[in-house]
Amino acid sequence: MKTTITLIDVQEQQSETPDQSNGYLQRGKIYVRRMTGFFQRIRSVSLSLLMAMYFSFAWIRIEGNPLVLFDLEVQKFYLFGAIFWPQDFTLLAFALIICAFGLFFITGLLGRIWCGYSCPQTAWSLMFIWLEEFFEGSRHQRIKLDQERNSLRKWLKKSGKHISWLILAFATAVTFVGYFYPIRSLTADLFSLSLSSGWAIFWIAFFTLATYLNAGWLREKVCIYMCPYARFQSVMFNENTMIVGYDQQRGEPRGHRSKQSEKPNLGDCIECQMCVQVCPTGIDIRDGLQYECIGCALCIDACDSIMTKINSPKGLIRYASEKEFTTGKPQRTFNIGTIGYGAALIMAISIFISVMAQRPQAELSALRDRGSLYVENGLGQIENFYTLKLVNKRETKDTFRLSVRSSFPVKVSQENLPIGAGEVITYTIILEVAPEQLLEASSPIEFISQSLTDPNLRAVAQSKFLGPVHSTD
Ligand code: SF4
Ligand code: SF4
Repeated sequence: MKTTITLIDVQEQQSETPDQSNGYLQRGKIYVRRMTGFFQRIRSVSLSLLMAMYFSFAWIRIEGNPLVLFDLEVQKFYLFGAIFWPQDFTLLAFALIICAFGLFFITGLLGRIWCGYSCPQTAWSLMFIWLEEFFEGSRHQRIKLDQERNSLRKWLKKSGKHISWLILAFATAVTFVGYFYPIRSLTADLFSLSLSSGWAIFWIAFFTLATYLNAGWLREKVCIYMCPYARFQSVMFNENTMIVGYDQQRGEPRGHRSKQSEKPNLGDCIECQMCVQVCPTGIDIRDGLQYECIGCALCIDACDSIMTKINSPKGLIRYASEKEFTTGKPQRTFNIGTIGYGAALIMAISIFISVMAQRPQAELSALRDRGSLYVENGLGQIENFYTLKLVNKRETKDTFRLSVRSSFPVKVSQENLPIGAGEVITYTIILEVAPEQLLEASSPIEFISQSLTDPNLRAVAQSKFLGPVHSTD
């Protein structure tokens, strides 16, 4: 993209210089200048990929099951071919621990790479800015349009932008709810105006509004004032962390000129303000590392394009560690903190894989009827009642053979427990014991359910059998 710098740009930017005297950035609307370059191509690819994944994953099915679906109604979570149940909560906890250590490790190593290259706020803001440019034009044209008096032309441009924002926000919200409610039936019901789920309607409306406000109106304010990650990331930073920074030693003293050879006593920064104009959070990276910097590298591409024009080497603004900017020498990237995060990450992933591998495919729980201790039936036998909950986590239907391990012979009311694929079934089971077999008022027993299709698949549950103690005298 051809980039020209004019005095108007510099004056406009000077009028936008933030005042932080009261702790908040007092600045007007930020008109981000479009910029292309090496890092923006990487960002475009990564953010487009993530958006494509977001909008498609809810629709994809593998062997009849959704690729990703958190079905809260039936309490089943589908994730890339695996099915998780509420009983797999420990796995979810491990997955969250992995995400946390992964974020610590990446941040310690590469700074705010998440914010710049994969954060949904960044991706949606970029799409909204792209729509804004489509309807209202370049940075100059947008500034002029906002300063113009109201007219039909201005109204049409603004309406086009807001309508397109709302459509995108609505599509985002429907897709999001589609990760919790099967998306095919959700969209069919929605567009035939027969959606009866109140919570689905509420969340679609809520996320449409939230997306429209966050990506259309709030943008950088979400990163600066609302995102907790921006605040605690400094804890994860160290002097070897890669950050986007300005090379003071090379750039200062800064000063205007059109050619580098014009004023040889000045540094490489020609004070063109391009790095500030492209910054989505409106900061000046030359003021040093700031928590408002989301690491998007737009200022690197902007400055590199200027350096190319004035025949200076690229990299006046670049990715480097704070230590490198201070000493002027390249530094090693790893330090003890980053290695620690990496080790913890590997450990958490290993535990997760081993827990996943040992995850039982069937589960059984037994609850003794608390309403009565025991019942003596017409034949003089002692009966206890139990509620058994059988979970079949496999995607094939099955029948489980029920048996009881105990120190005395037991008659089971139902031996075969049929169950469908991925089902949870509750059975009421009666155990019958001859009174003369009972030597204790409470005897431990174990229910064993064994799959008829796979004898290695068993699930057990502990319980007790209560009855009168038979005297041996
Ligand atoms: S750092 Fe680069 S982009 Fe920023 S004002 Fe100086 S020369 Fe221009
Ligand atoms: S300072 Fe540079 S890297 Fe940081 S947010 Fe602004 S443009 Fe992006």
